[in-house]
Amino acid sequence: MKDSFGREINYLRISITDRCNLRCRYCMPQGIHQVPMHEILTYEEILEIAEAAASLGITKIKVTGGEPLVRLGCAHLVAQLKEIPGIEQVTMTTNGILLKQNLTALKEAGIDAINVSLDTLNPEVFQRITGSERLQDVIDGIEASVSAGIRTKVNTVLQTGVNDDEWKDLIRLAKDLPIDVRFIEMMPIGYGKKYPPVSNEDLKRQIEAEFGRAEEDHSIHGNGPAEYIHLPCYAGSIGFIGAIHGKFCSSCDRIRLTSRGRLKPCLCYGDTVDLRGILRQKKHHEELLKQAIAEAVSRKPEAHCFEQLNRITEEQEMIEIGG
Ligand code: SAM
Ligand code: SF4
Repeated sequence: MKDSFGREINYLRISITDRCNLRCRYCMPQGIHQVPMHEILTYEEILEIAEAAASLGITKIKVTGGEPLVRLGCAHLVAQLKEIPGIEQVTMTTNGILLKQNLTALKEAGIDAINVSLDTLNPEVFQRITGSERLQDVIDGIEASVSAGIRTKVNTVLQTGVNDDEWKDLIRLAKDLPIDVRFIEMMPIGYGKKYPPVSNEDLKRQIEAEFGRAEEDHSIHGNGPAEYIHLPCYAGSIGFIGAIHGKFCSSCDRIRLTSRGRLKPCLCYGDTVDLRGILRQKKHHEELLKQAIAEAVSRKPEAHCFEQLNRITEEQEMIEIGG
C-alpha cells in the first residue's frame, strides 16, 4: 500500500491492551484511567483487522500494549497472526517482566523478534522510573530470550537527571550478548510531554568520547528507523532512534492500531479511523474494513511536528497507542 507521499506502508503496530504491570513515569504513572474491557478489541477483532490489513499489503506486525504479556493468550494471538497469509514477520515489544515465563510459548508461536524496554540497570533508578522492584526479572527475560535464539533488542528512553548517565552500563549488554541496545528519544506524547528529550546526537558524541570513533553499521537490523554504530569487540550494535533530533518521516512505513480499535496514520496527530465501530456495527464489514484501512493510509501526513509542541494534536496516552 502506498500513501499519498509514495511511501510503502507495510508495517502495523497493534496495541492489544492498555493494562500494564509497570507504572513508567513517562507512560502510565499511578492513577491513570484504564479503558473498560468491553472497549478494548477482542482477539477475534484484532485478527479480523490484521487479515484485512494483510490483504492490502501489510507484511509486518508488532504486538505491543500496554504490556502485551499481561493479556492472557498473547502467545496464542502471535501464533494466529503468524498464520495470516501475507504476514511475514510478527514481533513484540515488552517490558520483560513476564518474558521468561512466556518464552517457550512465544518461541512455539513463531515470534520473529522481541524488543525489551529497559531504561536502567540500577535497581533504585528502575524503581524510580517504573515503580517496580522487578529489574532482575527483566534481565532474566532478556538473557532467556537470547538463549532461546530469538532476535532480541533492548530499547532505552533516557531522561535528563534520572538515567541520562545509564547508557554506559546499558551498552555493555551489547558487549557480552548478541543484542542491539537502542536509544529512543522521549516523544512529547501523553506524560512524555513533561520530560524533555535527551538528544541522541549529544549521546553519540558522549559515546565516541568514551570509546573513540565508532564504525557505522549499515546492516539490516529489523524494521525500524534506527541508525546503528558498532563498537570494537561488541557482540551487538548500538542504535539511535532520534524521533525529535533525527526526523525519519520520509521513510515511515507504519500505521498503528490502538487498544480501542482506532487506526492512527501518525503518532503525532489525533486523527484516527474507527475500525471497532465498523466491526461492531456493520454486518458485512469486510470491504468496509479494507476501505477504512486504505483511508487511514491515504491520510498519513508527510511528517510529524514534535518540534512544534503547539501543533501536536494527539491526546491519547502512549499506553493506548503502544509506542
Ligand atoms: N509495555 C511495553 C514496553 O514497555 O515495551 C510495550 C508498550 S510501551 C508504550 C512501548 C515503548 O514506548 C516502550 O519502549 C516505552 O519506553 C516507549 N515509550 C512510552 N512513552 C514514550 C514517550 N513519551 N516517548 C518515547 N517512548 C515512549
Ligand atoms: Fe507499561 Fe511499557 Fe508504558 Fe512502561 S512503557 S508503563 S512498561 S506500557
